[in-house]
Order: sequence, then structure tokens, then C-alpha cells
Amino acid sequence: MSDTCNCEPTEILIFPCSGGSNVGQIANQAGVDLTKAGVGKLYCLAGIGGHLDSFIESAKVARRIVAIDGCPAGCAKKTLEHAGFKVTDYTIATELGIKKNHDFNLATGDINTVCAEIRRQLGR
Ligand code: SF4
Repeated sequence: MSDTCNCEPTEILIFPCSGGSNVGQIANQAGVDLTKAGVGKLYCLAGIGGHLDSFIESAKVARRIVAIDGCPAGCAKKTLEHAGFKVTDYTIATELGIKKNHDFNLATGDINTVCAEIRRQLGR
């Protein structure tokens, strides 16, 4: 979706859907791992969804808005777009071959797959 960039990690905000399924939590853990690796910064999707001014204003300065959804319902992307943001980088866990279920014993390999796709898009 996007070319490589030279953004500082703080300019790259990561919004996982954090949904109530394995793929929602894989998205969330991918956001955590990408943040720990310095790729970007995990940010509060709920604050955006609640249209809280301080969250909206902080997100406006980001150069890259990364959304990670668990499944095609696309909750993170739709929440961001509803608040007026353009998602620059995007992936859906189920479209990377991860099957949706409610087993919360998350597979490290699945989390790494999502992280790798976002890294590929960001060129980081
Ligand atoms: S995108 Fe899918 S997994 Fe994520 S919150 Fe929405 S329905 Fe749940």
C-alpha cells in the first residue's frame, strides 16, 4: 500500500482493532511488538472512536496511520475513517492466512506474520 519512508517512530501511530477474538488480540499484540521494536507507536483506538479531542489532535500530527484489523469487518480502519483519518498502511490478519477463532492462546508465528506485513509496508 505504501512506499518506504523516513518517519520517526513517534510519527507512525499503530491502531489495532484489539477485538474479542484470536485475530483481534493478534492484531493488538502485533501493535505491542512493533512498538517495542521501535517501528511505530501503539495508540488508543478507543480514544479516537470516542472522538476525544486530545487523542484526535495528537493523531493529526502523525505522518503514518497504521491500522491492523483482525478480520474483514475492518473495525479499526472504519473507526479511524469515521474520525476523519486516512489510513496509510493496513492489514487484516485473516487475509494473511490466520483463521479466526476464540482460542486466546495466540501463536507467536501468527503475531510475527502480522508484524512482518506491517514492517514490509512501512519499509522498516
Ligand atoms: S475487525 Fe474483526 S476482530 Fe477486529 S474488532 Fe472488528 S470484528 Fe473484531
